[in-house]
Amino acid sequence: MSELGADPLYLDRYVGRFAPSPTGPLHAGSMIAALASYLDAKRNGGLWLVRIDDIDPPREIPGASEGILGTLKAHGLHPDAIEYQSHHSDRFTRAIEQLKHEGNAFYCGCSRNSLGAGGVCVSTCQRQGHSKTLNTSLRVIVPAGAQIEFDDVIQGKQTFELGKQHANFIVRRKDGLFAYQLAAACDDGQGITHVIRGCDLLESTPRQLFLQNLLGLSSPQYGHLPLVYGPDGHKLSKQAGAHGVNNATPCANLRTAAEHLGIPKAPNSTAEPTQLIDWYIEHWDRNRVPR
Ligand code: GLU
Repeated sequence: MSELGADPLYLDRYVGRFAPSPTGPLHAGSMIAALASYLDAKRNGGLWLVRIDDIDPPREIPGASEGILGTLKAHGLHPDAIEYQSHHSDRFTRAIEQLKHEGNAFYCGCSRNSLGAGGVCVSTCQRQGHSKTLNTSLRVIVPAGAQIEFDDVIQGKQTFELGKQHANFIVRRKDGLFAYQLAAACDDGQGITHVIRGCDLLESTPRQLFLQNLLGLSSPQYGHLPLVYGPDGHKLSKQAGAHGVNNATPCANLRTAAEHLGIPKAPNSTAEPTQLIDWYIEHWDRNRVPR
């Protein structure tokens, strides 16, 4: 979302986004996030961007980006712009440099095993002042008492004890890749005004708000949607092998997603995805989404 703030077209405008990782096809759970973020943007006269979060090549499935974009199109969800997070490395590098320069980050040589159950490196590495080696990650310093509050536009007021729950979290991994928290915070902090996504990311939001604040970036308003569970009771996810939605039955898929979001049932006469989407825009109401 390059320099959105600098473009007069975007000034004072709702800018929403859907940010899938290309780790598999778009499944029923992601369809809900795509539809809700789209409807919330359009209901508010806003723009809807699709950002492909392709910064983790080991987890990427060849062809998944094209597949996801094709599925959105088949369902009448047309983005105003498409971006690839892998094109934003300079932005992420600058953020890392800023964190280091301002004394807000330290290198950590701990392994998952040495950290123990909490997985938190609190102060040892920080005191030892490690330098960058092949085997260090970079962590942002979260003060022990850090508390983050925000008003979730769907779930209501949220309070997190960030210093306890996610102390000194990783911003660049040992393998040199940028952590999701850093990349999402930086990209969403460039003029995205609303992030509507699944509740599986609710715990990430305080970390992203914390980073945006440290880096002097803007912060969107966040809204988190109820999750979809598979027949085995587990959250649907691409990693868990959830099936992609069938592009041949877009209306049925949209109706299922809409029902999950508390949208009233559309008349049967709305037989094309675009008609259905228009009807849903008219009837979208954040307050009807089950909490
Ligand atoms: N790309 C990540 C995912 O698909 C995060 C999306 C987000 O921040 O909305 O889970």
